[in-house]
Amino acid sequence: MTTQIVCKLCGQPKARAVNRPQIVGKGDAMVIVPNVPMMSCSNCGHDYFSLAVARQLDQIRAKPEACTTRKSFAVAELV
Ligand SMILES: [Zn+2]
Repeated sequence: MTTQIVCKLCGQPKARAVNRPQIVGKGDAMVIVPNVPMMSCSNCGHDYFSLAVARQLDQIRAKPEACTTRKSFAVAELV
């Protein structure tokens, strides 16, 4: 059984902790953070993360070179 957490947004006990990829920045400075811990709510459909995680993402956005490694991967775009 998965632990249900009360959603901060809708107040229903329908949120759970998940890891999702998050994209920070854009263009040449775009960084993909593959495993970002966040809450996902099946009631209101929102994903949101803690202030501590948001701060770390801000740091990555501010100084992408300091905290990233280069990997090559395929990118798909919807047409
Ligand atoms: Zn919710």
